[in-house]
Amino acid sequence: MIPDKAAIRQAVQAAHADHANDTGGANASYIPYLASVDPALFGVCVVTADGEVFEAGDARFEFALESISKVFSMALAMQDVGLPEFHDKVGADPTGEPFNSVIALALHGDKPLSPLVNAGAMSTVSLIPAASPEERWAKILNMQSAFAGRRISLSDDVNNSEQSTNFHNRAIAWLLYSGGTMYSDPMEACEVYTRQCSTLVTTADLATMGATVAARGRNPVSGEQVFDPSLVPPILAEMTMEGLYTASGDWAYKVGLPGKSGVGGGILAIMPGTLAIAAFSPPLDPAGNSVKAQKAVAQVASALNLNIYNAT
Ligand code: GLU
Repeated sequence: MIPDKAAIRQAVQAAHADHANDTGGANASYIPYLASVDPALFGVCVVTADGEVFEAGDARFEFALESISKVFSMALAMQDVGLPEFHDKVGADPTGEPFNSVIALALHGDKPLSPLVNAGAMSTVSLIPAASPEERWAKILNMQSAFAGRRISLSDDVNNSEQSTNFHNRAIAWLLYSGGTMYSDPMEACEVYTRQCSTLVTTADLATMGATVAARGRNPVSGEQVFDPSLVPPILAEMTMEGLYTASGDWAYKVGLPGKSGVGGGILAIMPGTLAIAAFSPPLDPAGNSVKAQKAVAQVASALNLNIYNAT
């Protein structure tokens, strides 16, 4: 059930006001562009499963989607290759490792552990059926845009910054290839994966993207059916397992909402059937999750009594 709208408005405003002056954490430094973003920016937004938008702070500032892009490419791959084949090729296990770990390639078994860390995410990109890397990229960008309900675009600044520093990811792509779990040219998959991380979204876009999952695959703002409702449970399961890097278990324990973070400072959390909460603030904790966005999302969830393990 969607909470009272006045309560949502109040929760969003309070989460922003209560944490606006918090300090702590540091911008991601390994991608030059991210290091240069104003660390004081802070946005909070909720979009309900019936399409209402509640926002506070810098919710219309565009930032790099980064790892959150993995959710939308995963949905695309699940839809295009079918769930059984997708699950056969990419796992659904927590890695307990950082986002770019080589351990996540195939710790036990012969497939990368999760589509929500870099190894599995690049396998996922390579699985999306396409005749060329440009076609694959167009499908990914169209999917991100359908989730957001507006045309999402690539930032050349972010993309150039990442493409010129992504040596570690290129190494992972070759390891996947040598292990037989890369389904297109590995450097093309890495290049397209890097582009998908380099698109710009606002906190309001992110909440709309999450609300599309909350509303069973139908974007509640644009009205478009973006993906098949049968994909909602596996998408949320993957987010629970590996949405917040090494903090995923703690997040499930304390907040109880499937989530996904990115090193650009965004975090998205979803209460199925109800709403999505998004927040953005660049400084990250050592696990790679935004310090303030975690606090804001957790506060809104708690204020509205939203927790999938405590559903009434
Ligand atoms: N483009 C980033 C990388 O692969 C995404 C990292 C993230 O947000 O976790 O290094």
